[in-house]
Amino acid sequence: MQGLKAVFGKILKVDLSAGVCRVEEAEEGALNLFMGGAGLAADIMLKETKANYDPLSSEAPLIIATGPLTGTGAPGCGSVDLCFKSPLTGVWGESRSGSDFGPTLRKAGVDVVIITGKAKEPSVLVIDEGCWEVRPWPELKSLSTSKKTESIKDNLGSDFEVGCIGPAGENLVKFASVMFGDASRAAGRSGAGAVMGSKNLLAVAVRGKGKVPIAETEKFINLCRDINRRLISDPGNAVWANEGTTGELARADAAGDLPTKNWEANSWGKGKELFSYFQENNFVSAGPCYKGCILKCGRKAKVDSGPWETPLHEGCEYETMTTFTAYLLNEDVDAAVHASWLCNEFGLDTISAGSVLAFAMDCFEKGILKPEDNDGKALEWGDMEGSFELLRKIVSKEGLGGLLAEGVRAAASKLGKEAQDLAVHVKGLEGPAHDPRSGKALGLSYGVANTGMNHIHPIEGMAWDSGKMDFGLIPYGLPDPEKVDRYGEEGKGKAVKILHDFGMLPDILGFCKFYAYAGVTVDDLADLMAALTGEQFTGEELLKVGERAYNAQRVFNVREGVSKEDDLLPEKILRQPAFGKYAQKVECVISDYEKMLMEYYHARGWDENGRPTEEKLLELGLGHLVR
Ligand code: SF4
Repeated sequence: MQGLKAVFGKILKVDLSAGVCRVEEAEEGALNLFMGGAGLAADIMLKETKANYDPLSSEAPLIIATGPLTGTGAPGCGSVDLCFKSPLTGVWGESRSGSDFGPTLRKAGVDVVIITGKAKEPSVLVIDEGCWEVRPWPELKSLSTSKKTESIKDNLGSDFEVGCIGPAGENLVKFASVMFGDASRAAGRSGAGAVMGSKNLLAVAVRGKGKVPIAETEKFINLCRDINRRLISDPGNAVWANEGTTGELARADAAGDLPTKNWEANSWGKGKELFSYFQENNFVSAGPCYKGCILKCGRKAKVDSGPWETPLHEGCEYETMTTFTAYLLNEDVDAAVHASWLCNEFGLDTISAGSVLAFAMDCFEKGILKPEDNDGKALEWGDMEGSFELLRKIVSKEGLGGLLAEGVRAAASKLGKEAQDLAVHVKGLEGPAHDPRSGKALGLSYGVANTGMNHIHPIEGMAWDSGKMDFGLIPYGLPDPEKVDRYGEEGKGKAVKILHDFGMLPDILGFCKFYAYAGVTVDDLADLMAALTGEQFTGEELLKVGERAYNAQRVFNVREGVSKEDDLLPEKILRQPAFGKYAQKVECVISDYEKMLMEYYHARGWDENGRPTEEKLLELGLGHLVR
């Protein structure tokens, strides 16, 4: 038997309230339209939920989705994608993590898990080859993510892979993460940890040793070998292991891509020295997040001594290091390393955590927050002792921490208009550590991304117009970035549409997005999918799948009330940088966002309010989504 259905589509449905698990096959029609991962999850969410449901209610689904390439040996195939309605934003929530969890799930015979209901007691979902069980495990409650993982593995076996929440998820902090890979890898954005916590589900543990099905094994293996060889022979790809994403500190600072002082500027002039300090004092070794990664961007790091002494752990990604340095005007790299470790132990998204602290510092500076709002203590720029104290209060939801645990949008709306001007978010999701004043494609990408202000779902727009990457998409209509001015606005709407369709594919097919940056093209993906399924695919068809999934997620968002107003950008990033290398660079600020937005809507086939038109949905084979 050939085709996608022969290699992918086993869905484990778990009802925690009833304690019942059962396996179903994905519908063939849905597989053909959406393939897997975040695409199939969009279809499931639209079919299985009603408008305006509470994301923390028992009926809210949490979907753990792999893609057809996950666990196959394809380049970067260690992904798992969590899809849900975000309690932070109220719209489409999605968060990817790399680790051996996704490949192990597939080896256990499960491709997608849909979790609904609420367990009576704090519990763990155990998936062991062909057996499934919801196991009450109250002793795990309140433990850090690494202690939970350790305890589960001690009890069940070291060959289990674990995804778990920490105290932040248990306490329903709106930006709680789910941690994988021995608590070192986060599905951080949008608050999946809170959704899991609301279900009394502390962890999912999986063991599997079966084979992931491939239709034409030899052809598939040869293709993987060829692509890997090509990636390794590109000298530019040595940067992944040599510097990890942390090396971006220096490059982003130089490019005006480093949000600084809660987005008052887009450069700081200190990125290079921060990175040098990290390399010399904290960095221990590079490594992969799953067995088989050849790029090895993972960082093992520590702080040997001093107030922020931190054990050897994996973390310290660029995003985390930036939110805990430049966002806060903190020059103490040891403190940022400590923050990375602590957030992972609490199960907190590091981007949102650093963002709410930067927002609080801004509010204290402007007199919107006063010492009496925080047990008599003001939080000044760079105050890391105060930041750690507040982080703990966020996790336990005490005092000011309780307000910040709701995210910057909700906190600002309670504090008033002046605070709202300081809250940097789109659709309620705090801004990640790339500044749209570095390239106009990123600003538009942030505005229209289905999850909110997100750099990785679907893609970092500035990698094209500022970073000059073409992702092999020039034959598919993407303008050659070498001929594009990063500060230009004309044509960016059309380009971002193509970038978004492509950026969906790693999350649909189940592989690490960094491999797309390293040189895996849509044509490679078409070849891999053909060998995997024994059927023919073209790059064009795959981009259509990306477009379809993107539209389905937008339909979900429109159903939940999203309109053009929600695609607008926060005021702060539409202002001239207040200081730094780009302070005089007028062109770095978007001059006509409305025009870019309309160009994007037009390229998408959406109406002027950002709604997918009937004509577009019919063209994509999504007539059932016409409302
Ligand atoms: S490049 Fe980094 S994130 Fe991607 S699979 Fe490898 S180690 Fe994981």
